[in-house]
Amino acid sequence: MEPFKVLTEQFADIRILRYHVPGFENLPLKSRELLYYLHEAALWGRDITYDQNYKNNLLIRHTLENIYLTYSGDRTNVNWQHFVVYLKRVWFSNGIHHHYSMDKFFPEMPSEDFRELMRNSNLSAFAAENGKTDDFINKITTLLYNPDVAAKRLVQDDGVDMVAASANNFYENVTQKEAEDFYNTMNQANDPQAPQYGLNSKLIKKDGELHELVWEKNGMYGNAISNIIYWLKKALAVADNEKQKAALEKLIEFYTTGDLKTFDDYSIAWLQDADPLVDVVNGFIEVYGDALGRKATWESVVSVRDEEATRRAATVSANAQWFEDHSPVQPEYKKEKVQGVSARGINAVVLAGDCSPSTPIGINLPNADWIRSRYGSKSVTISNIIAAYDEASKESGAIEAFAWSEQEIALAKKYGNLAGNLHVDLHEIVGHGSGRIKEGVANPGDTLKNYASTIEEARADLFALYFATDPKLVELGLMPEKIVGEAEYNSYIRGGLLTQLVRVAPGKNLEESHMRNRQLIALWAYEHGKSDNVIECKVRDGKTFFVINDYKKLRALFGKLLREVQRIKSEGDYQAARHLIENYGVKVDAGLHQEVLERWKTLGIAPFSGFINPQLEPIADARGKITAVRISYPDDFAQQMLHYSHHYAALGVK
Ligand SMILES: [Zn+2]
Repeated sequence: MEPFKVLTEQFADIRILRYHVPGFENLPLKSRELLYYLHEAALWGRDITYDQNYKNNLLIRHTLENIYLTYSGDRTNVNWQHFVVYLKRVWFSNGIHHHYSMDKFFPEMPSEDFRELMRNSNLSAFAAENGKTDDFINKITTLLYNPDVAAKRLVQDDGVDMVAASANNFYENVTQKEAEDFYNTMNQANDPQAPQYGLNSKLIKKDGELHELVWEKNGMYGNAISNIIYWLKKALAVADNEKQKAALEKLIEFYTTGDLKTFDDYSIAWLQDADPLVDVVNGFIEVYGDALGRKATWESVVSVRDEEATRRAATVSANAQWFEDHSPVQPEYKKEKVQGVSARGINAVVLAGDCSPSTPIGINLPNADWIRSRYGSKSVTISNIIAAYDEASKESGAIEAFAWSEQEIALAKKYGNLAGNLHVDLHEIVGHGSGRIKEGVANPGDTLKNYASTIEEARADLFALYFATDPKLVELGLMPEKIVGEAEYNSYIRGGLLTQLVRVAPGKNLEESHMRNRQLIALWAYEHGKSDNVIECKVRDGKTFFVINDYKKLRALFGKLLREVQRIKSEGDYQAARHLIENYGVKVDAGLHQEVLERWKTLGIAPFSGFINPQLEPIADARGKITAVRISYPDDFAQQMLHYSHHYAALGVK
């Protein structure tokens, strides 16, 4: 068999990869049929994410696609190349803001040349809806080129009105204060089991009054949601098992009514379906895109169980109580009984919405804290995505460029993959699920506010790091020798202090919570280990390296910080969270940043990666009964994006 080609193309700061679904052909027909229906339900939500990210994203995308398909002028010059790169970046980010930095990005061609492209393309469909062509061309040009229009998708700066300043489409004509007051009145009894108010709606002010536009079948995004419901209903008939059927029924009910209580019921039902062969996440899930951490972005992950990774994860899960008991956290902030940590490895079959083209490598849901503490959580690592990343990076030269010694390089090549997998397992399976909130203290979203996500990610990472070099992992057969954990320490410090900076534009600070948490941990450990020379900063040929001299002491530092971060979460200590994150997790050393960018540049690797999905295709007999489902692996990113936009155009352009 020909080797599966992972890397398909590279543009701007992005690599486009493919992932493979091992064993798809051997799945029972019923499971493949189920995967196909869920595949359709996933893709019908794609447009929601564009609209949530910025209200003009769909208009812009449709316009750009129209140019791409109908432009009658020269397609060989540099302007056309700039245009195509810009369109691909819009597809990659689900809109006009960078998926990571959240900053608006711009076409590289002059705006006058962009107007020329529009004039020589068939925009009549839009002209009819949007007035005269000249007005329309002016409107689009302004949206794309004016740096003051929708400058940033998400603003989380201290001391500004984050709601008003963010370009995302979760609020309209609403100030941060108004939004906070609006939701603060909703749970005055401080009921810990209250739904996550505001999760599935847009908050607007009209005629001086605040209203929620709920995302449900008969509300906002109604057409997309109706299509999702249609395919979920088909999935019901071939569901994996009765529990899954019950969960899907609740999900359909939630989409039909928009009732957040039903969403919690759905989440609980979904947890009961603990170990299905085929599984699905489809809904308004993560709140990272909202400055107030309240509004959820739409996403879907359709997957099939990965048996080998599931065995590894099951071992971690089965020992959850041991990890909890042996963590360095203060006893009063540990869980006495760690419950229902279900952990599995999955292979993605299709990813959509906020999970695509850029995708997570692990998922731990649901997010509601009270459901997690009462019913546990489902935690998965996405094996085939991790495998694709590993494959793509193996020959890239990145390890050689940033590791200090031959020994460190050899260790990374030998154990990097296993170490990375174990880190994700520990982070997702025991990290997020560990610890407890002090009695009477509200949810971290309310107490830690804009710092809650970073603190939570730091907590899960520290938990994983603390145990990465524990001999218990060898005893459990999770790793052959303790040095696997040391490979993880090397890569974490390299990543947190050096290589992750390639994802940040010169002069910018860290914004994204995972990046903030990684630097926070690495820099804090570096600073606090200085007197013992635990991590040493070395320079060779003008290049900076961070070298770990003492793994044992580094582990102790991770433990100390874990204890503090858990205390911050448990007590809702906003000031301490702010202090930690602003001091260690935000500011970037400009000189070092510049150096890292230059070193990275010589490697020619784009810092971000995203994926083309496999394509599922049903084969039906004369009566319409599905007799087979085929999988294929397209390798043209633009073609897939156009195909999706054409076939799953759920939302009208306004
Ligand atoms: Zn996490």
